[in-house]
Amino acid sequence: MHADFPLPDVQWEPTRQFWAAAARGTLMIPRCDACGRYVWYPETPCRHCGAERLTWTEVSGRGRLFSWSVVRHAWIPQFADRLPLVTGLVALEEEPAVRLVTYIVDCPLDRLRCDMPVRAVFRPLRYTGVAGEVVAPLFAPAEG
Ligand SMILES: [Zn+2]
Repeated sequence: MHADFPLPDVQWEPTRQFWAAAARGTLMIPRCDACGRYVWYPETPCRHCGAERLTWTEVSGRGRLFSWSVVRHAWIPQFADRLPLVTGLVALEEEPAVRLVTYIVDCPLDRLRCDMPVRAVFRPLRYTGVAGEVVAPLFAPAEG
């Protein structure tokens, strides 16, 4: 565990480009050069066809809420002033088999629904007592 936990380690090679893209306000997911499917978690070989080359590719940021959990208990002190928070799994529009672990924001708890349309918003993650911040793709209800 690194010193600035729970901030993500943006230098860790398998996800370095994911965080670099988020800092630019874009959502990027690796896509297999051979079969064209998106692959998440970002590791080779491609889980669909076994090919070895993936290319980081921009996606729309649109998706649907697959599942979520409302966190009301601070299991580490850094979360105490963020409660309640909603962790979610978001299935991407381009490839619903790709489900990102994220926070759901800007959504009253009683509006959370399975399959609700969501869109990526890019916000800095900050935690009390932790230096620095990391811009992350979080998901909010999509308009319309
Ligand atoms: Zn493939």
